[in-house]
Amino acid sequence: MTVLVRPKALSDHKVRTFQMLIDGKWVDSADGRTIERVAPGHGVVVSRYQAAASGDAERAISAARRAFDDGPWPRMTASERSLILLKAADMIAARADELAFLDAIESGKPISQAKGELGGAADIWRYAAALARDLHGESYNTLGDGTLGVVLREAIGVVSIITPWNFPFLIVSQKLPFALAAGCTTVVKPSELTSASTLVLGEILEAAGVPAGVVNILTGTGPEVGAPMTTHADVDMISFTGSTGVGRLTMANAAQTLKKVSLELGGKNPQIVFPDANLDEFIDAAVFGAYFNAGECCNAGSRLILHRDIAEEVTARIAALAAKVKVGDPLDPETQVGAIITPQHLEKIAGYVSAASKDGAAVAHGGAALDLGMGQFMAPTILSQVRPDMAVAREEVFGPVLSVLTFETTDEAIRIANSIDYGLSAGVWSRDFDTCLTIGRRVRAGTVWMNTFMDGASELPFGGYRQSGLGRELGRHAVEDYTETKTLNMHIGARTG
Ligand code: NAD
Repeated sequence: MTVLVRPKALSDHKVRTFQMLIDGKWVDSADGRTIERVAPGHGVVVSRYQAAASGDAERAISAARRAFDDGPWPRMTASERSLILLKAADMIAARADELAFLDAIESGKPISQAKGELGGAADIWRYAAALARDLHGESYNTLGDGTLGVVLREAIGVVSIITPWNFPFLIVSQKLPFALAAGCTTVVKPSELTSASTLVLGEILEAAGVPAGVVNILTGTGPEVGAPMTTHADVDMISFTGSTGVGRLTMANAAQTLKKVSLELGGKNPQIVFPDANLDEFIDAAVFGAYFNAGECCNAGSRLILHRDIAEEVTARIAALAAKVKVGDPLDPETQVGAIITPQHLEKIAGYVSAASKDGAAVAHGGAALDLGMGQFMAPTILSQVRPDMAVAREEVFGPVLSVLTFETTDEAIRIANSIDYGLSAGVWSRDFDTCLTIGRRVRAGTVWMNTFMDGASELPFGGYRQSGLGRELGRHAVEDYTETKTLNMHIGARTG
């Protein structure tokens, strides 16, 4: 819903027309077109960006190529790069409130949550700075007398980084500092719905001492400027987070010139709950896991697989707690669930709920859009009597919609959990250690939480099985992802054959 009067929370906000960062200069798009962002929680324009196209991508990629082939960044010592990343982390922390505000107004997420993400992001930059100094290869003196094998890790080159709208600053922070730590140069494209915080990051990196051309930031739509970033011959690697459909297209584009790809894609994450679980803790985590970021979260615990003996009681208790969740203005510090990213996306979410209802699911709570007089919002929703074959149980709804399925045996629970195309994360709730580990080993997902949900840390790798993606971010190998392996096979003294 677009409103004509600026909401009070935004009365001091000056709508900024952002430029893009190419080769160390802030510039307009070549053809002068811009994009306006209407805040999903407030219904008013809050930012304007350049609408870049392929010519702008060409300029940015050439700048990154030159910076990699001839510039100082890949040739600095790891300690020098690390110090710049640490400086950037401090500046991110110092500007965290401003960055969180931009993410909250553009994505519609609650401001308290956006602030938490900024804290996490600064920690990731610090972690990447530490890893920069520990990037190393291997050596083998076991190949026979007179030979030595040295395995080097070299920066892969120019990396295209493409990010989605749901965690704008956090996701670019899961990629860029690690690429920079390795000595790569980059072209970054945030979502056209939430570009502001990434552009401010460009200002921070310049001020921290990242040389011109090392980080170029383009804004615009996927087909116009994202696609050329995935096909250009001068790009060596693509690091993409977004939908599985665009991930598939990205991989096909990368195949034209055989680029390396790292893909963080969708999820439809099961939480399996046994009767011996601590249900008080689970119910709290279920509500958080399903409605955090309005369910617009690749990790949303949107598929509850409850043991039949507890299904009715647990569904009723979740519905009662969902009714208490505070949905509203993303800038209100008390808000727990904010706005839905676009009116079109709200329609899609509501469409899943009505299709499920027609197919026999029952709405235990919510089920419809909420009219709060500005922006677009969806009631936290819980659907019971969902069958594993329904679309709402198999596809990523990407909204605050929780589906309840039931099981009788452990094998059945695992079969339901593994029966879909995704494998990003999963949860298991039981006081029995064997039960937790059995599920942990047999569920095909990149992360399995046990008696908790959605905890994370910079040290823990994150990524998906199957159609949830390729590769892992974070963790101690995160910098290696942005490298090539080179073998130096050396011969010492006379070569005897
Ligand atoms: P999206 O795939 O529509 O867009 C992601 C990015 O790709 C945007 O910057 C977009 O402009 C760009 N893009 C679109 N078309 C393109 C093209 N043809 N070529 C190149 N780039 C293109 O995804 P979204 O709607 O922004 O984000 C939601 C999706 O992201 C969900 O599926 C969610 O699960 C996924 N996601 C995954 C993770 C993870 O870590 N696994 C994290 C967050 C979000």
